[in-house]
Amino acid sequence: MPAIILDGTKIAQEIRAEVAAKVRHFAARGRRPGLAVVLVGHNPASEIYVRGKVKACEEVGIYSEKLAPPESVTTAKMLNLIERLNRRDEIDGILVQLPLPPQVDAKRVLLAVDPAKDVDGFHPMNVGFLSTQRPGLVPCTPAGVMEILSRSNIPVAGREAVVVGRSDIVGKPAAMLLLNANATVTVCHSKTHDLPAVCRRADILVAAIGRAGMITREYVKPGATVIDVGMNTVTDPVEFQKFFAGNAKREETFRKKGSTLVGDVHPEVVEVAGAITPVPGGVGPLTIAMLMFNTLKATKMRRGRVPEALRA
Ligand code: NAP
Repeated sequence: MPAIILDGTKIAQEIRAEVAAKVRHFAARGRRPGLAVVLVGHNPASEIYVRGKVKACEEVGIYSEKLAPPESVTTAKMLNLIERLNRRDEIDGILVQLPLPPQVDAKRVLLAVDPAKDVDGFHPMNVGFLSTQRPGLVPCTPAGVMEILSRSNIPVAGREAVVVGRSDIVGKPAAMLLLNANATVTVCHSKTHDLPAVCRRADILVAAIGRAGMITREYVKPGATVIDVGMNTVTDPVEFQKFFAGNAKREETFRKKGSTLVGDVHPEVVEVAGAITPVPGGVGPLTIAMLMFNTLKATKMRRGRVPEALRA
């Protein structure tokens, strides 16, 4: 029996609707949440991401402000900009769109963001809060993975979870969240021996690798839940055929656009898994939804005690 498809688009819409309702309560009390997005230069991919984030803010009623320093900006100017945003009370969240140009010390800039406004959850203070199970801001994509699991009624406590990938923005925080939710967690990476065998232990397999279709059926225990974080663009027709031969809908999109999005999980895994997130339409939509959620959470944490009805 093919796997249940975990519909990330629907879950993201639910979260956005919940956030919008709470934003309305805050706005009615003159405390509209505010997000500042800093986009340096003209990286086309970053511009698309930032447009999506600003649009999402409009939809849920969050005030947003885009700051666009030139490509030639210096570290000192970026630090000054962040400092000014830190001081502005109506700004609850600060997001610095990565990558930054090479002359800018990205680590210093991210470290300068007030941890209370760090809606990406990348500041070492928030990393520490997560690992010591204190309230804080959690990176959006891994937080979205947990929302997919909980809102799909997939139990986590006591189960074997394997995370492939150990990046600071996805793999490590995903592993920490699963551990905090009482899973038994294994984290794999490029030096892991016999990766398929380790992955086959998983009741919950999270792939955050950045390699199109790497997780094939031999990596998956029958009935496992597979969460595919990967977003890889395939343009080579031969590679496309490897994944989607006979898939008329995909073939039509590929013909029209000359590319398609593929996860880190091979489409054949749908025949073995118990439940799986599609790409696109799985984890992707959760990332922006959780950014909205984090901006609301930052607002609540920064602006003190709030009535129970407004708690996320
Ligand atoms: P990353 O920083 O490049 O990390 C990739 C991780 O995968 C590394 O830990 C690496 O191991 C591991 N890896 C690479 N090749 C491997 C192999 N052959 N076997 C086992 N492990 C291997 O990537 P990332 O930022 O975490 O992103 C991962 C994927 O998620 C990408 O496709 C990205 O586009 C996608 N993503 C999606 C969203 C979303 O909104 N859906 C958000 C963020 C990222 P080492 O540490 O040993 O090098």
